[in-house]
Amino acid sequence: MQACDLAVVGSGFGGSLLSMIAARLGLRVILIERGRHPRFAIGESASPLAGILIEQLADRYDLPRVRPLSAFGTWQRACADVVCGLKRGFTYYRHELATAYRPAADRRNQLLVAASPSDELSDTHWLRADVDHFLLREAIAVGVDYIDEVELDDVAWGSDCQTLGGRRHGRRLHVAARFVVDASGPRGFLSRVLRIDNEAFADYPRTQALFSHFAGVARCDAMPDYASDERPPYPPDDAALHHIFDGGWMWVLRFGNGVTSAGVAVTDSLAAELRLADGRPAWDRLLGRYPTIAAQFAGSEAIREFTWMPQLAWRVPAAAGEGWAMLPSAAAFVDPLFSTGIPLTLLGVERIARALADSPTAPQLAGYAATTLAEADHTARFIAGCYAAFPHFDVFSAYSMFYFASASFSEMARRVARPRHDARFLGADHRRFAEAIIRLSPRYAAPGEDYLMEVAGAIDPLNIAGLCDPAKCNWYAIDFDDAIRAADKLEVEPDVVARAVRRAGRAQRQARTEATEDRGSQ
Ligand SMILES: Cc1cc2nc3c(=O)[nH]c(=O)nc-3n(C[C@H](O)[C@H](O)[C@H](O)COP(=O)(O)OP(=O)(O)OC[C@H]3O[C@@H](n4cnc5c(N)ncnc54)[C@H](O)[C@@H]3O)c2cc1C
Repeated sequence: MQACDLAVVGSGFGGSLLSMIAARLGLRVILIERGRHPRFAIGESASPLAGILIEQLADRYDLPRVRPLSAFGTWQRACADVVCGLKRGFTYYRHELATAYRPAADRRNQLLVAASPSDELSDTHWLRADVDHFLLREAIAVGVDYIDEVELDDVAWGSDCQTLGGRRHGRRLHVAARFVVDASGPRGFLSRVLRIDNEAFADYPRTQALFSHFAGVARCDAMPDYASDERPPYPPDDAALHHIFDGGWMWVLRFGNGVTSAGVAVTDSLAAELRLADGRPAWDRLLGRYPTIAAQFAGSEAIREFTWMPQLAWRVPAAAGEGWAMLPSAAAFVDPLFSTGIPLTLLGVERIARALADSPTAPQLAGYAATTLAEADHTARFIAGCYAAFPHFDVFSAYSMFYFASASFSEMARRVARPRHDARFLGADHRRFAEAIIRLSPRYAAPGEDYLMEVAGAIDPLNIAGLCDPAKCNWYAIDFDDAIRAADKLEVEPDVVARAVRRAGRAQRQARTEATEDRGSQ
């Protein structure tokens, strides 16, 4: 029997980060893992909101060794052995059946949205085997007790203590904790022992996924099919690259070690046509439909087995109760589209950390559970609209602006120190914005001629990034002047935004200078 204040079940990045924070709050923490690090994990593409959340959590809880993971430049200098990739933005190409991709003159079959102005400040793709192992080592270094290869099978609830029971290497093990956080991911520990059924999201298409890691995947910007005389806002492959087609989409995420993560998320009907459960043969069948995607993978080799997920989206009916809470990733998942999983998990870490600063009260836990599930439902409504829009790329690119507006707004709101801790993901707490995500969803109504302008009107209160501008022809570079001009939407003076932008620029220059000096002194 081991005793602690907090037991965290699952040592993915979420579990390890929360454990570290709790240790910094002075709690005795035991982190319990079923497997053993390093190990493969999916969920690799971070985002601007994820970056600022890491920065703020690291500053708030004195975790200086975690902070560099907030951007590519700092990451490379502080922990280059932890593999990541550049994510300068979000790249989308629309593919037609049995037809080679060719960029349309007006760029109507592509969308490029920059998320950072430079490699230095860029977001990242996380090779999760490395990142999760690194964070676990950091957790142990700040005093978290870690037990791996534990098969938990039981929980007994007491009035102020819960006891987890399981086996490790054939021997019985018990952990008594005042509070339990389930960070064990999809259909995780508490779902199973409490027999909490996973349910489908209301009015959401059934979807499946198939994915692997590859070597030798070609870059689109080196392929003749994508050739163009124009210079894009960032190298399109140094981004979360998406191939969109009827019934689903493919992600292509490059890491710095030559490995590429790729997979598809598709509706059940396309999955049935492709016989997705077959794994590799199904992947080949998909490539057989789209010649330019096939050409990108022609010289590639899968370096691990394919994983098939027969039901991608799910949620639990309850995400917290007396003495326990689930991280968002143990409570729900929608789709990898728009990389919502990592920021939602980090928001959950932030919220649970605040509650742990004292003993979490029943109203706090009820509030946490309601927020977590409301954000998942809101995200599902948005992604359902995206699936409906896939066959009409102009509609998809217009509707996607709801995500880009809310993501850039929440990042900048945090940067200009407007600390609204109750701010919700994807503008869920902005009533008119959230209603418009439903009203303008391509799932419910066929978009009219003025659809882009309707979306432009709806996102306006959060649009600080010059989005929905037809003159930009689907290429959105970073222009900080947009944010400075829109300072009133953030309820600050333009000068405050300008200072935040200058701070980022200064940090970038200083980092470059230090790197040059380091190279000089070696
Ligand atoms: C196909 C797919 C693609 C995705 N892509 C993205 C993306 O690009 N960007 C993004 O932001 N999000 C993405 N996500 C979501 C992302 O994977 C999750 O948000 C993220 O992994 C959550 O991290 P975590 O540490 O909370 O949980 P996990 O990464 O799920 O880690 C859970 C840990 O708990 C351990 N565990 C499980 N059961 C037990 C048990 N009973 N006892 C003890 N330990 C246990 C596991 O071994 C694991 O180490 C994707 C999800 C899927 C399914």
